[in-house]
Amino acid sequence: MDFSWLKEQDELYTRVISQVQDRLHMQPEQFWTRAQWLLCGDMRLLGLSIPERYGGSGFNALTTARSIEAFGYASEDMGIVFSVAAHLFACAMPIAGYGDEALKSRFLPGLCNGTLIGANAITEEGAGSDIFALQTCAIREGDAYIVDGCKSYVSNGPVADCFVVYATTNPAHGYLGITALVVEKDTPGVIIGEPFHKMSLKSTPACRITFQCCRVPIANRIGNEGQGSLIFKHSMQWERSCLFAAYIGQMERQLERTLSYARQRRQFGKALGKHQAIAHRLAEMKLRLEASRLLLYRACWRFDQGQDALLDIALSKLAVSEAAILGGLDAMHIHGSLGINSEYGIGTMLCDALPSTIFSGTSEMQHDIIASELGL
Ligand SMILES: Cc1cc2nc3c(=O)[nH]c(=O)nc-3n(C[C@H](O)[C@H](O)[C@H](O)COP(=O)(O)OP(=O)(O)OC[C@H]3O[C@@H](n4cnc5c(N)ncnc54)[C@H](O)[C@@H]3O)c2cc1C
Repeated sequence: MDFSWLKEQDELYTRVISQVQDRLHMQPEQFWTRAQWLLCGDMRLLGLSIPERYGGSGFNALTTARSIEAFGYASEDMGIVFSVAAHLFACAMPIAGYGDEALKSRFLPGLCNGTLIGANAITEEGAGSDIFALQTCAIREGDAYIVDGCKSYVSNGPVADCFVVYATTNPAHGYLGITALVVEKDTPGVIIGEPFHKMSLKSTPACRITFQCCRVPIANRIGNEGQGSLIFKHSMQWERSCLFAAYIGQMERQLERTLSYARQRRQFGKALGKHQAIAHRLAEMKLRLEASRLLLYRACWRFDQGQDALLDIALSKLAVSEAAILGGLDAMHIHGSLGINSEYGIGTMLCDALPSTIFSGTSEMQHDIIASELGL
């Protein structure tokens, strides 16, 4: 077993950090802009795992995760990291993995260079964790599908150019009757909702999207009719492993900042870090970071080997998201009153970690997967 990175992976990690720190300047409390998105394209962050012939970098999951980790480390703003990862893993990857050549050639170059913004639309009011209970339908009519329904939470939705939409083409077949379609924002009948006001990942715009008698050409179908559930599960394998590397990066930055504060801040005649209670909290932060990091790397490695990585990915998603929240609480506590000062950024890290146990399948759903893989 070799735990070292290749020289190219090390260089990539360092390059992503320095480029993001030097070039990506975010405005606090504001949505990211098209210009910032194009910059992400220019830094080659939008197509990390997309084949090179469509403008991506063709990285495997482990190298992709390491790049996303660098992005999460370098960017104080997690919203743009989340937006990029959602775009890549839940919109571009399903097209790359299951689309036909024409679909890939139409969408992937723009999704990689940033001229297109992608989103994933599956969740509905009545279909959250119970995702395959979705009601949005796509009825075949000639050379098109007529799509009707409402998606209740779409990250990047207010600004996206195209959506990977999951709809039922055959309700009688349930899970096997779901189909994935690329719906373009200008299609008549696409109604984009107002952006939500959120407490986390504030620079990521999100909204509901309604489809009213929306005519979507058959050419926009990803894979075959009825393959939607499989495609979604595959995209979640990418998202649950690689997107969460952003939180590994955030935890690394958080630990560095908290260690530095604990060394410099003095109370009762000595540095905070010399009080055992504080030192132990920092030791726990380090333990959770490294344990969840190893689970994530192993999950990506298994996935890259073509092995069944369902269990590893669920363990990793669960560990990283729970560690990110606990790390956020510890960092805030150690910073005392500074921790809740929004200009200081420590509280923001906690807020940005909070939804990580909800999106991409909640912690309860990950526990269910793990239990089922244990044969329960
Ligand atoms: C920041 C963020 C970004 C998102 N982006 C997108 C996006 O881009 N596209 C998209 O389609 N969706 C998106 N979502 C939606 C996300 O996928 C859902 O929020 C998630 O699947 C949970 O669904 P829900 O919110 O309806 O909660 P529910 O499913 O109603 O769950 C509520 C609570 O009950 C628990 N629960 C539910 N069922 C069970 C059970 N059987 N056993 C035990 N506990 C259970 C859950 O774990 C959770 O704690 C996003 C959500 C967030 C927070």
